[in-house]
Amino acid sequence: MRDLRRDLARARELFRVPADNPELTRAQFLAFSKQVPLLYFILITNSIAVAYTFLPLAPAWLTISTPALLTSLTGIRTIWWLRQRNVVLDDAEILRNLRVTNRIAGPIGALFVVWSFALFPYGDPFAKGQIAFYMAVTVIGIIFCLMHLRSAALIVTLVVIVPFVIYFMATREHALQAIAVNQLLVSGAMVTVLFIYYRDFADLVASRKSLLAEQAATQALSDENFRLANLDSLTDLPNRRRFFSELTRFFADAERDGTRLAVGIIDLDGFKPINDTYGHTVGDRVLIEAARRLGEVCDGCGPRVHLARLGGDEFGLVVGDNPTDEDLLALGRQITDRIKLPYQLDTAHTGLSCSMGFALYPRSATAAEPLYECADYALYHAKRHVRGGAVIFSSELEAEIRSRSVIEHMLRTADFETEMQLAFQPIIDVRSERTRGFEVLARWQSPKLGLVSPGDFIPAAERTGVIRALTRVLLVKALAAAATWPDDIRISFNLSAHDICSPDGILHLISAIEASGVAAGRIEFEITETAVTYDFSRAEHSIAALKAMGCGISLDDFGTGYSSLSHVHRLPLDKLKVDRSFVADINSNPISHKIVKSLTGLCADMEIACIGEGVETEAQLESLRRLGCDFVQGYYFAKPMPADAVAGFLAEERRRVSETSTQKRATGA
Ligand code: C2E
Ligand code: CA
Ligand code: CA
Repeated sequence: MRDLRRDLARARELFRVPADNPELTRAQFLAFSKQVPLLYFILITNSIAVAYTFLPLAPAWLTISTPALLTSLTGIRTIWWLRQRNVVLDDAEILRNLRVTNRIAGPIGALFVVWSFALFPYGDPFAKGQIAFYMAVTVIGIIFCLMHLRSAALIVTLVVIVPFVIYFMATREHALQAIAVNQLLVSGAMVTVLFIYYRDFADLVASRKSLLAEQAATQALSDENFRLANLDSLTDLPNRRRFFSELTRFFADAERDGTRLAVGIIDLDGFKPINDTYGHTVGDRVLIEAARRLGEVCDGCGPRVHLARLGGDEFGLVVGDNPTDEDLLALGRQITDRIKLPYQLDTAHTGLSCSMGFALYPRSATAAEPLYECADYALYHAKRHVRGGAVIFSSELEAEIRSRSVIEHMLRTADFETEMQLAFQPIIDVRSERTRGFEVLARWQSPKLGLVSPGDFIPAAERTGVIRALTRVLLVKALAAAATWPDDIRISFNLSAHDICSPDGILHLISAIEASGVAAGRIEFEITETAVTYDFSRAEHSIAALKAMGCGISLDDFGTGYSSLSHVHRLPLDKLKVDRSFVADINSNPISHKIVKSLTGLCADMEIACIGEGVETEAQLESLRRLGCDFVQGYYFAKPMPADAVAGFLAEERRRVSETSTQKRATGA
């Protein structure tokens, strides 16, 4: 009983539009709406043909009025379906439309069947045969057209075929009965085809659905990959790759609209020492916090700004919306001010600042990459001259770059042996006022450029990678000069960051010292604090190796870079050189005075010697002496001199000192 009920329910389902599968319903509707007009075309033309045959045989209400009524009814439905082609319907509307079609399929079929049966008795044998033909052809055409709406096809088949077979069998006409049986069998075959087709159609829709789902999943995955490939994982900011693709995009906009565009590069000052001193965990947290602050400033400022992390402690900006120099400087000020605020990170209450470089399109460059290079150069300039501030690339900087690249080019092809010379500047003991040693300063007499300052060619040699070869040539020359001096005169030699921070960096220096015959104890190496912070652990190793040989180490230009006192304490230093910028205004600027005072105090605490650089006046010498400086150096005593002037200078000094002591003895006596 239950089986019977279940079978009945299943059979009933065959005559309904399935509501549980929206994809299928939508696909049915789409396919079906294309075929419905054809269905009505078959119905109308077949009916008109029948009406035409019966025109002289049957009453007008059956041959004209009724077909006209039925044709208008189906005509209206045809127009309605044609209009659905351009309408976007939701799933519920589609389901409702299909249900309406399903519901009216039976009554429409029945109306035509009743009409043809009503005509039948009026016909002669030919006309009757046409009715049979009409019903058979129409039902086959309709089943074909309703393929996608199985329920409606089944309803129409039942509504037409059952009365058709019963009626024709009842006529007891031999030919008509044969037609009825034939039609029954053909309809059965057609229904079987309908079931097979419908099942395949439903499968096709289902597989299309899973394919789409798969495609969507693949798309989601590639979206995620795209996101990760364009995002910096530490700060969640767009990364370098994304920065350059945004720059290209902004650039295209600016070119098209004829508007200005700027690139900015931000570099944190003093981040490396934080990383070295407090470890990478703290370093990472500082970067995250810095990135957050940058993000806030960029979000809150006027023009459209794209911020990215370019790598390490470097960030990039693309500034759209036609920015002016004032806009950029204001943005730069906001950023540098914000980065300077304290970082409250449990272990490290550290002050950090940042320098920035901007370059503006179209003033400074007409393509994205050169624009970036200009911004990078402006940053480099800011780092050296306005640390903690922002610089916009200008025509002066452009001229500087040009001369820089000329220097780089000439340096690559220079013959160091003949073109490089040395100058020697005495380092004086404050108490005895006698020369304790000489600092070696490089001079480049270029055949094409003339005399080039070391402030220009040393950084160029670092950039072009020739610095180590240059250092070796200079050291060999310097030691050869020192070998001719009295044994109590020391030699002070400047090293670059590249000399002490490259893996095999100082090996070539050690071999040069050993070959020179100059006692290592007479040699002092000057290393800037910036060079030390470049790669602290490598620098530490190199310094230890030089110390192990017996050489002394001075920390040069102290106070100008980012000094971490922990570095000073961790390195085995012998001397600290107070930068000449503090000495220059020691008597006019209380801050400089204070700084020198604290530096001499630091040296006393660490029990190392202190050298004051750039002494030009007696007043400066007196202040340094009062503050406890041990050694001094500067134009007040002597300008850097050529090697062959050293002996004369020392002899003159000896003569002066002995004269002074004779005078003292004479007056004292
Ligand atoms: P530095 O090591 O601080 O050298 C001192 C600089 O101050 C020298 O400039 C010197 O001529 C100058 N100077 C000395 N006394 C006075 C003074 O009383 N007043 C003023 N205004 N200046 C004074 P120079 O020779 O142009 O060297 C500039 C920088 O180039 C040096 O600064 C040093 O960092 C670098 N340098 C020079 N020679 C070498 C070298 O052989 N190797 C390396 N790596 N760097 C070098
Ligand atoms: Ca020096
Ligand atoms: Ca110096």
